[in-house]
Amino acid sequence: MMRTETIAIHSGYDIEETTKAVAVPIYQTVAYAFDSAEHGAALFNLEVDGFRYTRISNPTTAVLERRVAALEGGIEALAVSSGQAALAYAISNLTDVGTNIVSVPQLYGTTHTLFAHVLRRQGVEARFSQSDRPDAIECLIDDGTRAVFCESIGNPAGNICDVEALALVAHSHGVPLIVDNTVATPILLRPLEWGADVVVHSLTKFMGGHGTTMGGIVVDGGTFPWKQHCRRFPMFSEPDPSYHGMIYVDQFGPAAYIGRCRSVCQRTTGAVLSPLSAFMLLQGIETVALRVERHVENAQRVAEFLRAHPSVAWVNHAGLRDNPYHALECKYLGGRSSSLLTFGVAGGFEAGRRFYNALGLFRRLVNIGDAKSLACHPASTTHRQMSAEELEKAGVRPEAIRLSVGIEHIDDILADLDQALAATGAARKRSRSVERQPAMGLADYGQS
Ligand code: PLP
Repeated sequence: MMRTETIAIHSGYDIEETTKAVAVPIYQTVAYAFDSAEHGAALFNLEVDGFRYTRISNPTTAVLERRVAALEGGIEALAVSSGQAALAYAISNLTDVGTNIVSVPQLYGTTHTLFAHVLRRQGVEARFSQSDRPDAIECLIDDGTRAVFCESIGNPAGNICDVEALALVAHSHGVPLIVDNTVATPILLRPLEWGADVVVHSLTKFMGGHGTTMGGIVVDGGTFPWKQHCRRFPMFSEPDPSYHGMIYVDQFGPAAYIGRCRSVCQRTTGAVLSPLSAFMLLQGIETVALRVERHVENAQRVAEFLRAHPSVAWVNHAGLRDNPYHALECKYLGGRSSSLLTFGVAGGFEAGRRFYNALGLFRRLVNIGDAKSLACHPASTTHRQMSAEELEKAGVRPEAIRLSVGIEHIDDILADLDQALAATGAARKRSRSVERQPAMGLADYGQS
């Protein structure tokens, strides 16, 4: 079996037969010719393999789908135009009016908005647990629950979910576990191996890695027994009138979930990834293993540097031994914490603002996972309108800075942080450990 580094470079593409092109060709086409009326009908009936229309599938995008499915250990995938589109499809593929999903509270801000406001208006309730612990999730599951949801590493909370325990809880109630693996990437963690059923990514972040291209993907583990739970999930086992009576478990077997996601969600609402974007993302994925290795190494150095710095009050990074998630980091990430971390400048909001303005190498923006080092000061940007009370409830401390540590030389990264900290003129007033904060992460750090 190939290792992840090799899969990231080779999986899903064999030398193209007509031209022998070694690089994945960009099939910038909308449609594909039928040999005859019968051939067209057979394609539409899914009786023969092939392409019909790029809103449904495309050969360049198909390479990306096969490659990410292989990286995650899934059986099939559907690539879409953004991480948010992937999340919306992953949930709407298995929910109906009157049903619910149960989610951990530590979410990327826009995902929280999607769940709490958009789904609610569509008649789907999102139940947020008090914490990411399995018992907090379990007590919210009932007959109407269609999925349990978590981010393997929460953005920006940095919490690490006990994926194995969450999968056990979900499965004991006949419900699948859907995991957003954007921050971890399959290089650090493969949730399907720990029992998750579906994995979602924003490919815009570490997977693409260059901050040039939006994209998202839904990966089907192919293990959830939809047929066995046909009363809870009738959409996979009953004839679909929107697709001339298709029964997805019969047509697609173990890939029923992703088959329906493509045939219904993508075909009818069309959040399509362009073939050029698929190519760009494939370019990035070729180096993801190497980049993540350096991201992890640099972030650990940054966390230790900040912790020792007199102008820093607190640091939240699971790679620090006294972090509440350190044990889960050892179990799931093999001691390799992600390059996302939050910290507080001594001196509060004003000092945080001065630090942020003094950054030189770090880019001030709302994005993560770029090769470049990135910084966000939520209280003065994305959360500027919130009162002190609202910020606290959302888990955003006024002075909190979120860093996505890049892959520049570590000395240059530390030098930039050091000169920006010097500019705050803040004295040390620190609490070394960060307490576990269930609400942390509800905050919208990335409402871009
Ligand atoms: N999931 C996580 C964990 C994210 O951090 C983001 C964006 O920051 C998304 C999903 C949304 O991805 P996109 O911006 O590609 O829509």
